[in-house]
Amino acid sequence: MEKIILLRVGELFLKGNNRHYFVACLKNNILAALNGFSCRFNGTQNRMFVEGYDEEDESAIIKRLLCVFGISSISPAVKVASDETALRETCDEISPKEGKFRVTVNRADKRIKKTSMEIAREIGGYMLSKEKGRKVDLFNFDFEVNVDIRENGYSYIFYEKIPAQGGLPVGCGGNAMLLLSGGIDSPVAAYRMAKRGVKVFAVHFHSFPYTSELAKEKVINLAKILVPYCGEIELSVVPFTDIQYAIKEKCPIEYMITIMRRFMMRIAQRLAEKNGCGCIVTGESLGQVASQTMESINVTNSVVTLPVFRPLIGMDKTEIIETAQKIGTFDTSILPYEDCCTVFLPKNPVIKPKIEYAVTYEERIENREELIEDAICRAEVLVIR
Ligand code: ATP
Ligand code: MG
Repeated sequence: MEKIILLRVGELFLKGNNRHYFVACLKNNILAALNGFSCRFNGTQNRMFVEGYDEEDESAIIKRLLCVFGISSISPAVKVASDETALRETCDEISPKEGKFRVTVNRADKRIKKTSMEIAREIGGYMLSKEKGRKVDLFNFDFEVNVDIRENGYSYIFYEKIPAQGGLPVGCGGNAMLLLSGGIDSPVAAYRMAKRGVKVFAVHFHSFPYTSELAKEKVINLAKILVPYCGEIELSVVPFTDIQYAIKEKCPIEYMITIMRRFMMRIAQRLAEKNGCGCIVTGESLGQVASQTMESINVTNSVVTLPVFRPLIGMDKTEIIETAQKIGTFDTSILPYEDCCTVFLPKNPVIKPKIEYAVTYEERIENREELIEDAICRAEVLVIR
């Protein structure tokens, strides 16, 4: 008898032609998640398991695997040889001594002639005979003994199926450049994209000395919290103050945010191209603030050619917060540090900006190309693991 952790992979994506690629990607990510634990990982097409670990590590290993996209559920299990006596004795030994229960058998090994119902009945009967406090109840049970009889001569006995992240393995869906602020939304956007198999790169705009070192630390910490879901994140911290000065000096204050956003998008696109990213991602949600009206989004979007994905566009703030709490970014996101966008915040930002106006105002910043290149050159690139 040996303790193992059973992993089930999402069924849907295993059906297409890309199956081998998806599985290889998932295996890599699982191995990365298991880094630091002494254990073995074993994977076939649709059953994967971790074995040979220290029992004390079990819950920590499960916790890590619960963040890996592509795994649909996880069961801590016991592995025994598929021998009738061994099976029923193990089920008896590891099950609670009292309570209502049922036995459910899945027989993949067709060399065994008895049906799953027959085997379940025999195991259940044996368990009843061993403990007076047990009672069979197929519908209203306290615990369910699942016995999975595999083709390899071994069976796995487990009690629970812990729902995992689902989604697609990170890395199989291309790369994205995320605009990562210190707020609540953009970390959730990272999580959402990673769930669809996308590897996330991030850019953060920093307005030193208006935004503090602590504000930068906060973004680094957010990226760290995202690593279990997204894997390693390359974060570019771009100095934005000079660009903000130039905008403030040359453009009407109500267009400040709009034009800042357009510069952010231009820089994001260049960094995206440098890193082989096929899209830009933001944490925008329609109508949340003045810069997130349809017209504003159109004006900021018009400076880039890459597709811009906004995974939170149709979500309410409360829904976004729920996810932020679930993934653990919320408490860090609400720490009260200034964001570069709040530093030069106009009292009345334009709600329905016009592209022509934005273009005209920007033309007043004659060295805009140099400002962009200079900001990119001076970016600090951090690899968050
Ligand atoms: P968030 O909670 O993600 O900061 P928000 O509700 O505060 O979003 P805005 O401040 O308008 O909204 O930002 C909208 C989006 O613009 C953010 O989700 C993020 O993708 C991007 N963004 C804003 N500020 C920055 C920044 N300093 N660096 C990088 N991206 C930023
Ligand atoms: Mg913000």
